Amino acid sequence: METDCLFCKIVAKEIPAEIVHETARTLAFRDINPQAPTHVLVISKGHYADAGAVADADDGLADEILKAARSIAVQEGVAESGYRVVFNTGPAAGQTVFHVHGHVLGGRDLGWPPG
Ligand code: AMP
Ligand code: ZN
Repeated sequence: METDCLFCKIVAKEIPAEIVHETARTLAFRDINPQAPTHVLVISKGHYADAGAVADADDGLADEILKAARSIAVQEGVAESGYRVVFNTGPAAGQTVFHVHGHVLGGRDLGWPPG
């Protein structure tokens, strides 16, 4: 655990979150500032700075995060209508919390390009 990391603190239950899905190595909770009717963040319980670091780790964790995103979409009822999984990776992409998280967005027409 990184002691100054917001999402590590959520994993440690030091900061509350509305948890909607959990596996041995992943945790998902509602975004505090939702941008769509469904806006869930899926993270690894272990600390990785971003999706690139998870991909580099190459131990199946990226697969688990994507599978968790799928389960969340089904659970939230957006799997049929459509949903988006976004991993902002790095400052220019808008990443503000440097603990890997996929945004699972759905429940409205999302539009493209994302801006
Ligand atoms: P990003 O800009 O991709 O790094 O996304 C960070 C996301 O974390 C934003 O959508 C925030 O609204 C969200 N966020 C920040 N603090 C919390 C928190 N305490 N609980 C849930 N979501 C949070
Ligand atoms: Zn962390």
